[in-house]
Amino acid sequence: MRRPLIAGNWKMYKTIGEAMDFVARLKPLVADASHCELVVAPPFTALAAVAATARGSNVRVSAQDVHWDAEGAHTGDVSPRMILDAGATLAIIGHSERRHDHNETDEQVNRKLRAALAAGLEPIVCVGETFEERETGRAAAVLERQFTNGFRGLTSPDFSRIIIAYEPVWAIGTGRTATPEMAAESHAKLRSLAREGFGSENAEGLRILYGGSVKPENIRGLMAQPEIDGALVGGASLMAESFAAIVHYR
Ligand code: PEP
Repeated sequence: MRRPLIAGNWKMYKTIGEAMDFVARLKPLVADASHCELVVAPPFTALAAVAATARGSNVRVSAQDVHWDAEGAHTGDVSPRMILDAGATLAIIGHSERRHDHNETDEQVNRKLRAALAAGLEPIVCVGETFEERETGRAAAVLERQFTNGFRGLTSPDFSRIIIAYEPVWAIGTGRTATPEMAAESHAKLRSLAREGFGSENAEGLRILYGGSVKPENIRGLMAQPEIDGALVGGASLMAESFAAIVHYR
C-alpha cells in the first residue's frame, strides 16, 4: 500500500517571515492528517527557518533544486549537504521551470539525482511533456526519454527511495488540469517503465504524484485514481487554508 504524499512547491514566493507564518498556520490545520505524508518546498532563503518551524510536526521540508557537487565553484548553487544542514530531507529535481529557465537536461537531472541519493536526500523527480509534445502524439516517448536518461545507472535500492512527479508542462500554472484519466494513463506508463527497469516490487512501491493546477476543487477526482499517489502543488500551496484543504481531500 503506497502512502499518499501531498507536496507544496512555493517556487520563488515568500520571505522568511511569510514562510514561517505559513507553517505556523498550517500545523494545526493538518495535525490530524495521518492518511498522508506532507511536504513543503520553500525557496532556499527560507529553508532553515521553515525546517525549524516545522520541527516536531508532520510537515516535512524539501529543497526545490540541488547541485551535484558537495561543494565547489558553482555560483548560486546549493549542495546536498547544505540542504541537509538547513534541515530539509527532500529535494525536487528536474522541475520543468528549471528545465526551461536554466536549460536543465536529463543528464543533469541524473547527476543531481545520484548526488541527492548519495547524500541521503529523498528526491522528488519531475517529468512531463509540453503541450506541443502531447498534441503531436509524443507524450509517452518524452516520458520514456526522461525516465531512461534521468534514472540511468541507478541501483534497485536507489530507485526504491525515489518519488516521481508527473507534471504535464501545459498544466503547470495555467489552470488547465489533466483529467484524472489522462494523468492515470501517464502514471501507468511511468510505472511500467519502472517495472521494466527496476522490477515489480520497486514499481509497485513507487509513489507517483500528479502536478499541474491541483486545487481543493479537483484533488478528490485525481486521488480517486488508484495510479495517483499524491500531488505536487504550486499556486494552491501558497495559502495555508487551500493547501490544508488539498491535504484533507478525503
Ligand atoms: C508546480 O509548481 O509543480 C505546479 C504543479 O504548479 P501549479 O500547481 O501552480 O500548476
